[in-house]
Amino acid sequence: MGLLDKYKELQSRRDMMLAMGENALGLVMDEMISPTRARHKGREIILAGTNNYLGLTMDPACIEAAKRALDSFGTGTTGSRVANGTYNLHTQLEQEFAAFLKRRHALVFSTGYQANLGAIAGLAGPEDTIYLDADSHASIYDGCLLSGAKLVRFRHNDAANLDRRLARAADEPGGKLVIIEGLYSMFGDVPPLADFVEVKDRHGAMLLVDEAHSFGVLGANGRGLAEQDGLEDEVDVVAGTFSKSLGAVGGFAASNDPLFEMIRLASRPYMFTASPSPSIMASVSEALRQIGKRPELRENLRRNGQQLHAGLKALGLSLACDEPGPVVAVRMANELEVLNVWNRLLAGGVYVNIALPPGTPNATCLLRCSVSAAHNSAEVEQIIAAFAEAIKPA
Ligand code: PMP
Repeated sequence: MGLLDKYKELQSRRDMMLAMGENALGLVMDEMISPTRARHKGREIILAGTNNYLGLTMDPACIEAAKRALDSFGTGTTGSRVANGTYNLHTQLEQEFAAFLKRRHALVFSTGYQANLGAIAGLAGPEDTIYLDADSHASIYDGCLLSGAKLVRFRHNDAANLDRRLARAADEPGGKLVIIEGLYSMFGDVPPLADFVEVKDRHGAMLLVDEAHSFGVLGANGRGLAEQDGLEDEVDVVAGTFSKSLGAVGGFAASNDPLFEMIRLASRPYMFTASPSPSIMASVSEALRQIGKRPELRENLRRNGQQLHAGLKALGLSLACDEPGPVVAVRMANELEVLNVWNRLLAGGVYVNIALPPGTPNATCLLRCSVSAAHNSAEVEQIIAAFAEAIKPA
């Protein structure tokens, strides 16, 4: 048997998807018209599955900052900061993140995936235990594996379940790290942060919150769930990504612990990969400024999330989360229905994400929509109208 033979089943699943229409796992955008519109095969489509929560990918000030950095620093850094040097753009951006998040130390990484790998494997080692939410993102799971720590999963968003697991391990040696997300990307739900803080404090554990989907989105200033819930001092480490609200590629992790800086000299995902490129540093730096000075972006996003949630609910669709938010996920009966409705939505000019097992909680089949501050109300109406058409019996 060849090494790749294990993929035959996956290949037939992929072939079934292609036979039903367009490639739902790799739709090509031929041109980006705006943060909410693209051209696909000559047709304009509305994007309702981008994570471009604030629409900053095409912000003129961010683009201008990136162009200036390209002109003066070049296209890439061509190496790791530890081996090949740091650009002042890196240190500036780290200082800006620290100031924005009100933390003493901030590190930037080349992707959000690596920020989790670097922070988690930098914090915990083989002698420690990591308690992670069962529905955690793959990068959190992979960071745990890289750390070599003992892993204990607790039930999604269930602080009492975490409490019981920590209590069972009260006499075990080693440090304890609890990891949750600020907003879960598949269902769009948020955790009860105050309950988790109470539990981790009582058991003397550290808490890391991955604010990948909540940074720029939640909190009066966009600092995420911890800001929204008034619990920033209780969160020991915050991690996040540049690839959603900040409109680029990269990630960050921040903490007040003076030893956090040592991750630069100890964590493989920080040391053994090329640092983010100059244009990224510059556009993210400008995006941070925009997040700080344009609260109306968050207000638009909130309004659009509410409009889409209410509109899809009124169609009788089963939504994965009762609360409106930037992610509105629709439950479908099975994979076939997901692909059918997804293709009909695309034919109606609307792109959403498909989310299928094993990538989803409880083997749920989802059509996942995310809105942007850049959508206008007419576009959100068009998304709702496309759903109404797509779910009509043939
Ligand atoms: N954490 C979470 C919760 C995510 O959803 C993602 C990406 N979707 C990441 C981390 C990784 O971020 P990136 O894609 O920027 O590497």
